[in-house]
Amino acid sequence: MAGVRLDKVRKVYPNGHVAVAEASFDIADGELLVLVGPSGCGKTTLLRMIAGLESISGGELWIGDRVVNDVAPKDRDIAMVFQNYALYPHMTVQENLGFGLRLRGQPKEEIDRRVAEASDMLGLNERLSSKPAALSGGQRQRVALGRAMVRDPAVFLLDEPLSNLDAKLRLSTRVEIARIHRRVGATMIYVTHDQIEAMTLGQRIVVLNGGVIQQLDTPMNLYNKPVNLFVAGFLGSPAMNLFHGTLRRADGLSLQMAEGTVSLGVTSDALAAYVDKPVIVGVRPEDLQLAEANGVATRLHAHLEVVEPVGNEIFLNMRYAGGEIVSRAPPHSVVQPGTDVALGFAAERLHFFDPETTCRID
Ligand code: ATP
Repeated sequence: MAGVRLDKVRKVYPNGHVAVAEASFDIADGELLVLVGPSGCGKTTLLRMIAGLESISGGELWIGDRVVNDVAPKDRDIAMVFQNYALYPHMTVQENLGFGLRLRGQPKEEIDRRVAEASDMLGLNERLSSKPAALSGGQRQRVALGRAMVRDPAVFLLDEPLSNLDAKLRLSTRVEIARIHRRVGATMIYVTHDQIEAMTLGQRIVVLNGGVIQQLDTPMNLYNKPVNLFVAGFLGSPAMNLFHGTLRRADGLSLQMAEGTVSLGVTSDALAAYVDKPVIVGVRPEDLQLAEANGVATRLHAHLEVVEPVGNEIFLNMRYAGGEIVSRAPPHSVVQPGTDVALGFAAERLHFFDPETTCRID
């Protein structure tokens, strides 16, 4: 097992495109770290550089206690699991699982032992003599995981391993990966564009945009204290509501919005520096409540346009003086599209951002 360290790792493609600007972070031995970001943000490039499938244009990449910039992929002690799991169709599950070890000339007893161990852990014992064509997508992906596991690598690299599975399988295989990580205790780097996968699997998450690391933090810190507007908008579904306002000083701080001014009752030195300046205010849909139903003070009025019941809750899509706004309400809330509603929020649940730098004001 080993940790991984990136020190100012950079990737410039031959056409001059900077895919990864300068990435520096550590992945602890045994940690499951997720790289997440929108399409084209550089997450696959970063993973492929760690795997050795893509050259590194600058900086140093460490696996364990050695710099591996110029080490061939096969000598890096890593195993990679891709989204298209590329099993050998003519081999049985057992043969697929053991193939990498056979290639390395491992003794048969050792191969059998490791294959049995992986198959046990992944629940594949019943399918060992099946060919890939006879397996479900989830089972195939488990074989692909098993093939990586039998090699007992220092680091697992997973590139969107669940994206070819349907929603239900994606969920169960996601739980499977979390379970395997706990049992094997291996270092794992997991690439996804899916924020739910990132939040549920990652012990820590790197949010990338345009080749630049935006924030590296625990899932809850990313959600509760996004460092900038990009992270605030990327994590959370429906996304955080954002609106323009100006901070004023009356009795303590107040927030002047399109609709009127509300007292915040909170203050901080950082916020006080923005008095009489424009700010962008963020409020998560779950922190914006129907005022009458919840006994919270009304802060703004809105017109309810679309009601979306999703089973365990309802999304309320509204329009107010400052634009569109979404809130989440309990499943049995009495709401009618086409009516006016009063909304409230707790001042301490607001997020403030600088409109110019887009950075969080804390
Ligand atoms: P996706 O989720 O769509 O796979 P990603 O975040 O994994 O996206 P990368 O595949 O790492 O993104 O690509 C990062 C950027 O580098 C993109 O703008 C992409 O177009 C560009 N890129 C990727 N490969 C090359 C290449 N061989 N030559 C030039 N540019 C490339």
